[in-house]
Order: sequence, then structure tokens, then C-alpha cells
Amino acid sequence: MPTFNMANDKKIIEEVSYLRKEIQKHDRLYHTLDAPEITDADYDGLMLRLEDLETTYDLASSESPTQRVGSRPLPEFSQITHEISMLSLNKVFNEKDLIDFENRITKRLEDNTLLKFSCEPKVDGVAVSLLYRDGVLERAATRGDGVTGEDITHNVRTIRSIPLEILDAPENSLLEVRGEIFLGKPGFQKINERAEKEGSKVFVNPRNTAAGAIRQLDPRNTARIPLQMYCYSIGVVKNMDLPENLSDIFLVLDSLGLPVNPDRATGIGIEECFAYCLQLLEKRNALNYEIDGAVIKVNELATQKRLGVNARSPRWAMAYKFPAEEKSTVVLDVEFQVGRTGTITPVARLEPVFVGGVTVSNTTLHNMDEIDRLGVRIGDSVIVRRAGDVIPKIVRVLNPLGNKNPITIILPAMCPACNSPVEKDGEVLYRCTGGLVCPAQRKQSIKHYASRTAMDIEGLGDKLIEQLVDEELIESVVGIYKIDLDTLVNLDRMGKKSAENLLSAIEKSKSTSLARFLFALGIREVGEATALSLVNHYGSLDGIMSAKTSGLEKVADIGPIVAHHIRLFFLNNNNVEQIFELRSSGVSWPDVSVDRDLLALADQTFVLTGSMQLMSRREAKAELIKLGAKVAGSVSKNTDCVVAGPGAGSKLAKAQELGINVISEDEFVEMLAQLNNVQVRT
Ligand SMILES: [Zn+2]
Repeated sequence: MPTFNMANDKKIIEEVSYLRKEIQKHDRLYHTLDAPEITDADYDGLMLRLEDLETTYDLASSESPTQRVGSRPLPEFSQITHEISMLSLNKVFNEKDLIDFENRITKRLEDNTLLKFSCEPKVDGVAVSLLYRDGVLERAATRGDGVTGEDITHNVRTIRSIPLEILDAPENSLLEVRGEIFLGKPGFQKINERAEKEGSKVFVNPRNTAAGAIRQLDPRNTARIPLQMYCYSIGVVKNMDLPENLSDIFLVLDSLGLPVNPDRATGIGIEECFAYCLQLLEKRNALNYEIDGAVIKVNELATQKRLGVNARSPRWAMAYKFPAEEKSTVVLDVEFQVGRTGTITPVARLEPVFVGGVTVSNTTLHNMDEIDRLGVRIGDSVIVRRAGDVIPKIVRVLNPLGNKNPITIILPAMCPACNSPVEKDGEVLYRCTGGLVCPAQRKQSIKHYASRTAMDIEGLGDKLIEQLVDEELIESVVGIYKIDLDTLVNLDRMGKKSAENLLSAIEKSKSTSLARFLFALGIREVGEATALSLVNHYGSLDGIMSAKTSGLEKVADIGPIVAHHIRLFFLNNNNVEQIFELRSSGVSWPDVSVDRDLLALADQTFVLTGSMQLMSRREAKAELIKLGAKVAGSVSKNTDCVVAGPGAGSKLAKAQELGINVISEDEFVEMLAQLNNVQVRT
């Protein structure tokens, strides 16, 4: 990266241009290709540096990635007339109609040669038009009625996979690309996880969420939704040489940095296209975005032109829609399932119904809020939809008055699997508090307990744990210490030698550290670093077990939510009993005579920035906490030391500005080695 130099404007401008290109490149790698090359932190570093330069030297401009969420809320949408109308597609639902489509074309062309078609998934999103003038995104509009749409430029600018500037556009050029803006499945899941965490309403389906997000007057609302886009055609083109067929145009759009669908293909003759449709239907659930069919288009633009359009749709394109996806059925019962992590989820048992190609006999209702929202009761007739996603869902209740014996759905107070009290976790989630004893959480808790970073029981892997639990040989983590040689030798694929090795590994693992043991208990949100903080703060298990929420909140890195989880865990007598039994089985650790003030880095604040080669950031953080240091996310005058790896950006600059001690990763590792030598191990 060029160095910061007041005297040299040219260098600054070069760096700004370099940073913009870099950020655009990484946006594309992350949002379109799903193949990030740098960490989020490093990306933020580039962005901060660019913002810094643009503000300091007044270099901000609308095509800069820093300006994606630049504009203020609009008073209203303005209308845009499409120079070339955005047509809608005719639809077919079966192979025969697809063959008819081909026959109509060959007849009109008076040519029986097999035609080449371009095939692509029909993404379930919102159709839009983007206009690039001289390579810069000038305008984005919704399809609207095909002739007139709404100006949504301010919102489209927030979508990271859409370049604000395309690469190497000729002068005086105009390029209109059209495509579908959508919300991918991971993005949809992410915003719903966030909604659950914040206790706000969950979004019901990705398409409506995308449509809502794109029609916000305030672009900051749009920016909160990780929208994506795939281009599917071009509109107005001036002063640009583009290939004469669609499949090659896609390659050019891709090379310009525009997002195109990776699951597209070409087919010779309609039979190949139909095979493509079937393949697509098969892999539909595995795709990262929702689709409702495939689109088949004549590949050659000249042939498209010859075929022309009829009233509303082109004669050269056809949508093949996947089978119908909504059916009605009856809710027979609602059961509450306990997930691997203790979440209690209502599941509706349905009268089996064939929808979207599969028979559905049960479906999740997600949470009690969703039940309220739907107003669903046992005995109600409901509409079940199977969209592109794997899990079918109830979308609404039909004729609620028709249910003569409605039964209201009530959340149980006790876990249906272990009878531990059920606790509210956040606004909408409920959770079983029987972490160590709940059979539903059994496999998960044992796997976690035995894992490398927890009790580190060599040879006790996931597969073996599943086998031991399934054959009812162990019920909880305590059971690990009760397994004997005979039991193990009688298992499939277990020789005497490996059984003996496992037993000695179990024995060996009993001598551990308090921090490992605490982490191994699997208390919600208590990771390795938090476990270390707790040990450093309290020094003993008894101290931690009897700590009040107010006390826990005083520990570094622990906020009210984590404190609550810890308190809840130790208030459950079943958990306490398990801990007692584990210690009776011989699990032990050296006394932790921690006097916080004696720790080598007591109360020092570190910041990690840039990339690390010798250890992961997580490891570095754990090491620091072990030595009594705090690890902060940003540099301030309270920072004692910054560890800067390659690619460190604004945090490093800030540290230098404030005169804070900066060390390299090598120096950091050296420091750890020295401190650990004199450190009394906990
Ligand atoms: Zn339970």
C-alpha cells in the first residue's frame, strides 16, 4: 500500500483509486463468488483507510464504495420510463408445453435445425434495470408495469454485489443490464437470526423481504438486508461491442464485474433444456437462493429479433415453472421438540399432503410468536407452502370458524425431554435449562465435553459418541468415566487395543485445568476465552458456581446475557449434581491460586489488527486473557499495545498517531513465550 504523504497529492489519488478497486474486487469475491480472500477485519481496514483519505482530502465521489449508503431518505419514489419495455415471460408447467414452445419457434423461423437455448434458474426475486453511463451506475429502476418503474437507485447502491462502476467501460457508452434482485437463503437466515436476537419480528419469506427492502425510502433500511442480484439480460446498449448471443454476453457481463448466475447453461434443442430443468429441480434445495423454475431463451440475439414479441411477452423465451407449491391440510397436533442446543420448537403434525414434489406430514412452527401470528390452533385447516427452501411451512389458517374443537397451543413449562424448567431466551426463543442432563442435548453436550479444546479425550470422537448414546451405553458426560473394557470391546469396529487406548485417554484427560473443565460444561455463550476470564477472576469453581449475576457482569468480556446464562446453568440442581459426579469420578485440576494482580499482563489492554500467520486470532485472544490482559476491538488512548500483522490499516495508523506501543506478530509470539515461562500455569 502506498504510504501516507501530505506533500504528494498524486500518490493520495492513486491510493484512493487503488483502494476503491480493491474493495470492489473483494465485494465481488465475497458477495457474488462466495470466495472471500481476506478477513472481514481486513476488509474493514481497507474501507476505513479509504474513508479516512476521502474525508481528509475531500475526495469523496458517488462511485466510491464508501458512498453506498450515502443519500438521505427520499420523500417519495420518482417514476422512470423504460426505454425498452421490460416484458414478462409466458409460463409452462410440463414437458409437452415446452415442446410446443419449440415447435412454434421452428415453424415461425421455417427452419428445422435444432436451436441453441440459454437456460438459467428462475430466481424468485424482484426484476430491476440498472443503467451504467460511461461505466458508472447512474440509475436503477424496478420493472413496475414493464413500461414505467420506480427509481430505486439509492437502494440498489447499497447492494455490495452490484458494482457502482464497471471495469473498463468505453467512453460515451451506455449499458442497461436487467436482472433479479433477491435475498439468498444464508442472508435470509442471517437476518432472521438477528431478528430473533433483537427480539423483533422474523421475516416470513425471502422474496417478500427482498421486495420490501428494495422499496424503502431510507437506504439505511435497505442496507440492513444482504440483497444480491443476478443479471439475466441487457436492455439499451450504446457504444459498446457486445457478442451476438446471450451465453457470450453473460461472459462479458461477468468480466465487467457484474454478477451473473453460476448455475446457467446452454442446451441444443428443447430436450436438453428440459433435462436442465429436471436437474435444476433436483438441486433446487441445495442452491443458496430460492427459485421457482427455469427460464429458457433462444441464445442468438438475431434470432430473438426475428421472432419478436407478442402483446406482452417475447416469443423467444419461456419460463418453466416447478410444480404447484401450496396445498391445504389439517393440523392434527403440535409437539414441542428440544433441539441439540436446548431450543424448544413447536412442530405441527399434519395430515400428510403432497406439495412441491414431496409428502409433508409435519412442519416447524418456529416459535410461539409465529403461532400467534398465524393464529393457528390444533384442528385448524391450513395452507402449506413448499417454496424453494427445504422446510415446508404453514402460511395461513383457512376458515378458522370451521374448526369445531379448536385446541389452543400452549408452551410447556418443563422440557418435554428432561423435565428441566424451560426459560425464555431473548424475545421469542425458549430453551431447556438441563444442559448436562437433557437427553435431547445429550450427544451435543458429550461431543463438546470430549472435544479437543475442552477435555481433549483422544479417541472419543463424534461417531463413537453417537454409537454409545444410541445403544444407551452412556447417558451423560458422567457416563464417559463409567465405560469399561468389556462394553467397548463389544462395540462394532472396536478392537481390544483401541479400547484400551481409549480408556487410558479417558483416564489421562481427568487431570485438566479449571478453564478447560468450565468450557467443557457447555454453558451457553461460555467459550474458551470467557472460561479463562472466569477462572482468572474467581480462581475457583465454587466461586464461579456461587457468583451472582451482578458479580459475573464485572468479569472482563461478560455482559448481562452471558452472566444470565452462567447463573441459570448453576441454579439447575441437575447440572450441579453432574458436576459433583464428574469430580467424584476423578476429574481434577490444580488449585488456581490466581491473584489477578500477579498475572503478567494484568489489566493491560491489547488490540489485534491485520492478519496473523503463526496463530489464529482466537488463540491469540485466549493467550492474552490467560495472562490477565483485556482484548479490545478498537484503539483508544487506553490501549497499551497493538499487535499488527500484515494488512493492518486504520487501527495501526491510529496507534501510531496516539504513540501506542506497536509490535509485530513475531514479537508477540516471543513475548508470550517469555511470559508463559515465568507464569504459574493455571
Ligand atoms: Zn431438556
